[in-house]
Amino acid sequence: MRRSDLKRLEKLEAAVHKGPKNCPDCRYRAASAPEEAPGPPPRDAVKVNCEICGAERLVSLDDVPPGEREIYRLALLPLEESYKDPRVHAARLWKTLRLLDRGIKAFCSGPDDGSPIDPESAALTKPQEEFVRAHKAKNSRLAARYGSDPFPEQTQLLMSMVDPDARRAAYSPSTEPAPATWDETLLLARAGFEKIVCGEARPETISQLADFRRRRIEEETQYEEAVREAIEKGRRRRG
Ligand SMILES: [Zn+2]
Repeated sequence: MRRSDLKRLEKLEAAVHKGPKNCPDCRYRAASAPEEAPGPPPRDAVKVNCEICGAERLVSLDDVPPGEREIYRLALLPLEESYKDPRVHAARLWKTLRLLDRGIKAFCSGPDDGSPIDPESAALTKPQEEFVRAHKAKNSRLAARYGSDPFPEQTQLLMSMVDPDARRAAYSPSTEPAPATWDETLLLARAGFEKIVCGEARPETISQLADFRRRRIEEETQYEEAVREAIEKGRRRRG
């Protein structure tokens, strides 16, 4: 969509009470988005409708690695789809973990396109509150219709990140060693969601996991060697 078309669309939407003037979602996005410098339109973008008022906006995928774009496209489908389709549900959770992995502060409550919410910014408090309230209401309506936990196995996978019991249930130690660090836990959960979305974990994730495990084995070997050396030294000193 060209910029002039977007402007025309915005005017049309304002005329039918969509957009920042009447919608808490659009208002919050307008308040939190950095002033956009005029530049070329995105090369790869998804047309997304506001969950609350239906206003159209473009979400650029230019910064998303090409191998991850299909998952992003699924994650950007309407919220209602995530109550009906396990792949869409998993893609949304995957995207949240990805953002968390990239060190973005927003975890649970960021807008759908992943823009971070900064809870410390006082100027955003009211629009942010209204945004969160509107989305809570929408989620409650959908939960009443489809159930509040439509895909319990995905909840279990998410819980495995924080609860050791759930972790033991999600990963059987005989086939897969339990994750040792938070980063590894995060990566394993991401691999689990990739299996739901793509049928298998992505090669990048598998190789990252292999790196973690290799490093862990190296560290364990170094530790064992250090212990052996210390014992040996002690023995020599006594002898
Ligand atoms: Zn809106």
